[in-house]
Amino acid sequence: MNVAATLAGCDAPKADAATRPVLRERGQREVFCGLTGIVWLHRKMQDAFFLVVGSRTCAHLLQSAAGVMIFAEPRFATAIMEERDLAGMVDAQDELDRVVQRLLDRRPDIKTLFLVGSCPSEVIKLDLAKAAERLGAQYMPRVRILNYSGSGIETTFTQGEDACLAALVPEMPAAEASAPKQLLMVGALPDIVEDQFLRLFAQLGIENVGVLPARNARDLPTVGANTRYVLAQPFLTDTAMALEGRGASPIEALFPFGAHGTSDWLRAIAREFGIAEAHVESVIAPGRERAARAIEHSRAALQGKRISFLPDSQLEVPLARFLHTELGMEPVEVGTPYLHRSHCAGDLALLPEATRISEGQHVDSQLDRVRSDKPDLTVCGLGLANPLEAEGFTTKWAIELVFSPIHGFDQAGDLAELFARPMRRRDRLEV
Ligand code: SF4
Repeated sequence: MNVAATLAGCDAPKADAATRPVLRERGQREVFCGLTGIVWLHRKMQDAFFLVVGSRTCAHLLQSAAGVMIFAEPRFATAIMEERDLAGMVDAQDELDRVVQRLLDRRPDIKTLFLVGSCPSEVIKLDLAKAAERLGAQYMPRVRILNYSGSGIETTFTQGEDACLAALVPEMPAAEASAPKQLLMVGALPDIVEDQFLRLFAQLGIENVGVLPARNARDLPTVGANTRYVLAQPFLTDTAMALEGRGASPIEALFPFGAHGTSDWLRAIAREFGIAEAHVESVIAPGRERAARAIEHSRAALQGKRISFLPDSQLEVPLARFLHTELGMEPVEVGTPYLHRSHCAGDLALLPEATRISEGQHVDSQLDRVRSDKPDLTVCGLGLANPLEAEGFTTKWAIELVFSPIHGFDQAGDLAELFARPMRRRDRLEV
């Protein structure tokens, strides 16, 4: 491994993000489905309930992904479709009405109910939009009833959040034409991280700030032509389109990972709100320096090391940018289920020209490339990690990056450490 070459990587020629070649793949996939998003969304939206209309498999996935909640009233459940439903022997819409009625009678605390579609409900073409409309008319204003798909057909797990937030956009109140310019931060973040960003926006002097999703699903922020939205997650394509359909316009920036990514994200927001550069610098400098110091701890384990991402969380491009520009890693292949060129343009442009970008999934050919590339670290789904470890590869579970607080200055050290830990473990095993 040529460390000097990697260090120079940040200044090496970069491909144009709009035109750089992308290897497109289609084949067998190894990812969780969109139902997984319920695990973090139900924690975020504290008065919402997620009712999956699915099979026992869906129920098992949720139970094992989220753990069984013993002490609290759960905020998600599965209406299990039995063979009679699947065979069309009963009216599934009537059955669903009965389940929803029982649930809402028993749980007056539920203010927003999401009917979440699954593979089985889609296969029998159960129209959950129609169900949400019918039940919504019955239960409004006490409960808002919405629907989205979390099925594993043509999705990867972070699309569940995108579909859920996109379903909320039509419910957002319209901002008055005379309302002051509003910042809308989009993407579910742990409360602690969201609070850090809200404090930074306040210090910058941005007063009119909304967050999607709101912690209380009934407190949706307004949206309109005065709204400037900034994505905190790169996988929110449908949500972004829905917001633009309501008149909002995007703020483009790197995603807020690490010292550099977070600074760029905050600077782009501040620019949009006309805040003086000197003030912006004074607000972000302490956090940026803290972040830069924190990631130093992981540099020895990561600098000059080669990394491959298999397509999984859709966070791959911005994370590869962070590891390359801030820690001197060399991304060999960055695979992502869907490449959002416009949202990820800034991060994509900072990846070295030699990095192979792939979109879509074909497990066998991706594994063949890992075997031939021999990266020092492979970021992949749970199902692929064990077989790769057995072949002598060092791996990192992609899903851990979605469940851990990784955005912003104060999480930069932890984010770097998530990648450094498996490298150190490998080094210890090799000694
Ligand atoms: S939605 Fe589909 S992929 Fe997800 S658990 Fe249910 S059956 Fe499996």
